[in-house]
Amino acid sequence: MACNGSSSCQSGCFAGGDEEPENGEIHIDRMSSLSVSTPKDGRTSCPKCGEETAPQNPSPDGGLCLACFRASLFGKFKLAVTANSMISPSDNVLVAFSGGPSSRVALQFVHEMQCKAQKNFDASRDRALPVFGVGVAFIDESSVSSITSDEVREAIREIGVIVLELAPPVKELHVGVLESSCFAGSDDGRERLSGLLGTIGDVTGRDDFMRHLRMLSLQKIALENGYNRLVLGSCTSNIACHVISATVKGQGYSLPADVQYVDGRWEVPVVFPLRDCPSRELSLLCQLDGLKTQRFLDRPSSGINGLVSSFLARLQEENPSRERTIVRTAEKLTPFSFNKIPETESNDILAARRRRRAQSAKREESIHSEVLCPVCSSPLDLSESQSLKTVLSSCPTRDEAFAAHCCHSCNLQILPNESLKFSDFYSLLPQPMMERAKDIASANQAWLRMIYPGVQLSGKHLQRQLVSQWF
Ligand SMILES: [Zn+2]
Ligand SMILES: [Zn+2]
Repeated sequence: MACNGSSSCQSGCFAGGDEEPENGEIHIDRMSSLSVSTPKDGRTSCPKCGEETAPQNPSPDGGLCLACFRASLFGKFKLAVTANSMISPSDNVLVAFSGGPSSRVALQFVHEMQCKAQKNFDASRDRALPVFGVGVAFIDESSVSSITSDEVREAIREIGVIVLELAPPVKELHVGVLESSCFAGSDDGRERLSGLLGTIGDVTGRDDFMRHLRMLSLQKIALENGYNRLVLGSCTSNIACHVISATVKGQGYSLPADVQYVDGRWEVPVVFPLRDCPSRELSLLCQLDGLKTQRFLDRPSSGINGLVSSFLARLQEENPSRERTIVRTAEKLTPFSFNKIPETESNDILAARRRRRAQSAKREESIHSEVLCPVCSSPLDLSESQSLKTVLSSCPTRDEAFAAHCCHSCNLQILPNESLKFSDFYSLLPQPMMERAKDIASANQAWLRMIYPGVQLSGKHLQRQLVSQWF
């Protein structure tokens, strides 16, 4: 018999209960220390529910039976969703599916939540609470990867079957082609994309830039199809890798923004419900539950990201809870104001932004947290914001102004050093990245007044003139 997820489970299980997310991990550790009953014909008894099961290879940590292991993972997911108000009944949720086990489990769990909401809706008399909608997005990156178009086509067909099987409720599959999403309306998107990546000399910089482009594509799909949440399958292992690599790249200031459950920097807020689930457990669940994945679509990281990934894999061999320890250490850093679902975003995104901008004019400190790098969206630290102000007040060229808007890490790893290459890079950038730099400059008149203390700004006209000098 599987545990019903109650926090009063006599075995000490917290899965699915109301405890803190880390308790799921504690639970697994505690289970490991409990003695698993003596094998009887090779069978073991689950320390949580007492069910006798045949030995499995591989088997879940702590000798849990499949049902309890599954309940433990789903409990962590559900707790992350409810404790951070990630999904409400009126939401329309887009799940980013890469084909890997993490996003496959994210899709499965979101589907199960939706099924439960649908059941409650059907059973209720007044039918007051609507059922949130779910869509699936896949980004085709075949133009810049070693995978052939045929392989991607076959993968998309199989993903279509997976999505079809996750019905009812029916879910729409959106396939975005990376170059088309980034360079909408352009006939030569493929050439532009490879040209743009060609201007970035640093391997790590290219790897990171691809991640930023992927996010732009997902945001575009979400915005064009009326979604108001984007679910990513980033798990403990991905976030632990990011913590180490961001530290190595000198992105310590912006790191707290990337390790939370919610990232509200984007027009469509991004949520990470699997933040407390390690990748080995998610892969194991796919294996045991028969959830089909597309492993050949895996994008191995390169440069620093690849080195950190293999370093962490070795650490994990010595101590399986290392990744969790890294994330728990990083989560002690103070999050930014945008690391929560914007209260009024469902009603009026623009009004919320205007309000945030108005608030930001009050204190200089809050201005720093509002200025985001147009390439990677990291908040600029105090010295970067000061240097941006200095550069903008000295009549910079277009390239200088753009470089000043970018964070130190992007300047080092992504932006080309040579001026000719920089011009190519700038001219090939996707529109949203340039727009973001314009947005920063024209966002707030108070901010411009600070840059040009002697200038009397007369409304939007002068503001536009100033911005047009740079872009
Ligand atoms: Zn069990
Ligand atoms: Zn940046």
